[in-house]
Amino acid sequence: MNKGRKSDFRALVEQASACRRCERMAERQAVLSQLNGTIFPSVLFIAEAPGRNGADRTRIPFHGDTSGVNFEKLLASIELQREEIFITNSVLCSPRKPGGANDKPTREEVGNCSDFLRRQIELLDPPIVATLGAVALNAIKVIEPHSLTLREHAATIVSWNGRRLIPLYHPSPHVIITIRNLEQQRLDYQVIRTALEDRENRG
Ligand code: SF4
Repeated sequence: MNKGRKSDFRALVEQASACRRCERMAERQAVLSQLNGTIFPSVLFIAEAPGRNGADRTRIPFHGDTSGVNFEKLLASIELQREEIFITNSVLCSPRKPGGANDKPTREEVGNCSDFLRRQIELLDPPIVATLGAVALNAIKVIEPHSLTLREHAATIVSWNGRRLIPLYHPSPHVIITIRNLEQQRLDYQVIRTALEDRENRG
């Protein structure tokens, strides 16, 4: 079982690495490797896309840029270690504007990468999925439809795909300044701790 998951993950990493389906990401490399986390995660975090100064540069999701610093503070606030989780994105490659700045993935690009997302969820089989931002919350609809919104369901625990889903805001500086500050997000993350403890209590 463990051996199977390891070899299936290796195959998935190789296929993602070779993927050139999105035209504007043809020169980028998918951020998917053992640096994303454990393949036996207690929580799978799904964000938007690898950032130019973060994961696309360091190959470690949420590491090397301000979003990463914020995410690490939020993880620390609930004493969750990177070794216990896996972090991925709605698109595995880094979408850029013509000048090179980070861009949001288009709906088509998210659709292109949805099979990789579905396969990661199936393979990692996490009991808890936390989406970070609206792009990720929408991206998982192709795996199992839902009508959740961040405005109504942020930091709540809902059933989805046979797991517990927790929609959360993205930890980017823009979101923290304009929509959900770090202190509010720290409170949101307590819901992950509650879901983890609930699971432990159930055995
Ligand atoms: S974002 Fe996903 S579908 Fe698009 S090229 Fe990268 S790995 Fe392939």
